[in-house]
Amino acid sequence: MSYEKVEVPEEGEKITLEEGTEDELVVPDEPTIPIIHGDGIGQDVGPAAQKVLETAAQATGHDIHWMRVYAGESARERYDENLPDDTVEALKEFRVSIKGPLTTPVGAGFRSLNVALRKRLDLYANVRPTYHLDGVPSPVKDPGQMDMVTFRENTEDVYAGIEWEAGTDEVQKAKEFVENEMGEDDTIHDGPVGIGVKPITEFGTKRLVRKAIDYALEHDRDSVTLVHKGNIMKYTEGAFRDWGYEVAEEEYGDEVISEDTLWEERDGEAPEDAVVVNDRIADNMLQQVLTRTDEYDVIATMNLNGDYLSDACGAQIGGLGIAPGSNFGDGRFLAEPVHGSAPKYAGQDKVNPTAMILSGRIMLERLGWTEAADLVRDAVEETIDSGKVTYDLERQIEGGEKLATSEFADAVCENIESMS
Ligand code: NAP
Repeated sequence: MSYEKVEVPEEGEKITLEEGTEDELVVPDEPTIPIIHGDGIGQDVGPAAQKVLETAAQATGHDIHWMRVYAGESARERYDENLPDDTVEALKEFRVSIKGPLTTPVGAGFRSLNVALRKRLDLYANVRPTYHLDGVPSPVKDPGQMDMVTFRENTEDVYAGIEWEAGTDEVQKAKEFVENEMGEDDTIHDGPVGIGVKPITEFGTKRLVRKAIDYALEHDRDSVTLVHKGNIMKYTEGAFRDWGYEVAEEEYGDEVISEDTLWEERDGEAPEDAVVVNDRIADNMLQQVLTRTDEYDVIATMNLNGDYLSDACGAQIGGLGIAPGSNFGDGRFLAEPVHGSAPKYAGQDKVNPTAMILSGRIMLERLGWTEAADLVRDAVEETIDSGKVTYDLERQIEGGEKLATSEFADAVCENIESMS
């Protein structure tokens, strides 16, 4: 495929799919990887992450050939459009990529580019690992107990965007349908009302839960917890739980066992290496991550619960400057930090690039480059633990040395080199 708005580097090979599979990547030693630096502080954290990831790749016998692609402000400046088709096509064709934050201005007429990208690439699982790095200040007593990965469904739930504004003909029709056709004539109060629809499908649930279980098996995790509010929303969140258990019980043989079967048939004793699937009600889960943190491992949940839960977990391990994220689809992957474009700090070489670097670490894992991924984590941890930190952490710890974004990246690279 040839592109007008993307320059494909001459060196570097394309990541492809193993024949006959939908999700197994064939990764050359020197892949071409698209990168969107992003808006605002993307210009600071993007190059910093690039440098660290490249250094870790080279230290472990690989290399990365970056391919700059454009979205948001940089695309508007160059091509007078927010999201060129060439950008989307390149992300599809090259399969594994990384992006910085993209601004979504508040107000009508501008859809979130992040949402558009996830939709067009069908990246249906938003995956956020939360683990603590030594030296990172935390509001909890023992942040080291947190080591969870949240799989948040990305395409359904109240986020599907099916909702109608108070005062419109559409909302009136929806209200009449609910009252007259569905017999709920005493439920909605009189007066102005907004109405939304919450679709949870068997298809959407099962592919998300499969991804979470596959991840747990591949990464030697002990459990997958389905988080839902099925006691109240029985046919949406309750269905999510039921379909989730169906996947666990019907598709994995002895490798996966549900908590019920575990107690009914095995007296609570899990078979060696098996992943246990259990479920928790969402409000209880928000307590459990604080009070019984180390009991949770991989979480599979719907869009809204996932949003709340992953931010709550992220706060426990150091907040936005640290929190990495990623999006998985079948045979496609896009890493992105949880934070936004923080425009007030743009271009100041000031903010913390850790979230973007650790998002890149998930990308290295997706490539199967475990050694490089571990090296990145260890080197970031070593840097922070030695007190070399950016402004956001420096203000919370005593005796820290405040570094610029680029200096922090250099310090991590030095640690990678001395550790490898
Ligand atoms: P934000 O950009 O995440 O920034 C909020 C605050 O978080 C910053 O002022 C800063 O706090 C802290 N922060 C964020 N990133 C940091 C970093 N790398 N290092 C240190 N501190 C960091 O959130 P926002 O201001 O609500 O959103 C700005 C724009 O980003 C909006 O247009 C929003 O739509 C967009 N956004 C994009 C994404 C994405 O691309 N995936 C995600 C979220 C938001 P202090 O000032 O207290 O130091």
